[in-house]
Amino acid sequence: MNTISLGSPVFSALAATFIVLLVGDFASTFLYHVPQHAWGKLHLRTHHDKRRSYWDHAVLSRDPQVLLDGLLGAVPYLALAVLCSRISIYGAVAGLLLGQLHVWWRHTTELGWRTPAWFVRVARGIGLVLPEDHDGHHRNPEIEFGDIFRFYDAPARATIAFCRSLDPKRRAAALRRAAVARRREAAASMKRRKMVKQTS
Ligand SMILES: [Zn+2]
Ligand SMILES: [Zn+2]
Repeated sequence: MNTISLGSPVFSALAATFIVLLVGDFASTFLYHVPQHAWGKLHLRTHHDKRRSYWDHAVLSRDPQVLLDGLLGAVPYLALAVLCSRISIYGAVAGLLLGQLHVWWRHTTELGWRTPAWFVRVARGIGLVLPEDHDGHHRNPEIEFGDIFRFYDAPARATIAFCRSLDPKRRAAALRRAAVARRREAAASMKRRKMVKQTS
């Protein structure tokens, strides 16, 4: 296989890592995640199953449906890694490893992860998805798209809205789901406020 040279091997590795994550997330969001939210069932049934913990889903589960959802979401990253291995094999592999680490990390809010304030500022600067952001996508499946980068959220929501506008039935169902999620969230925050009052 002929490799593409970018001068320094360190620079090549960094470029390959960056492309796998940035373009991989773009492709995964718009080729898998968005179509699933607009028309699909598998991702909503697995990743957004309210009956089970999402740490269990994203990390521990061996349920074939859950694994299939994870695999389909990962295919774009894998394809990008194969392409980028021509720039740097180490960089491409590092991109996949970092992507997998981010999957685990972004599902840790249930385990009590709280991002320190200084890192929140860093993440906002580079558009990185924090566990708290991805938690928002689990609470309300209509918000916080983009697995690794938050700047895919707005275009993803716009694409979903456009896809649904083509089909009034799906649009009505989505509005109902959003209303249910909003009510559930309001009830949860009321409960949290009550708990704070009781303990203070
Ligand atoms: Zn998730
Ligand atoms: Zn989703």
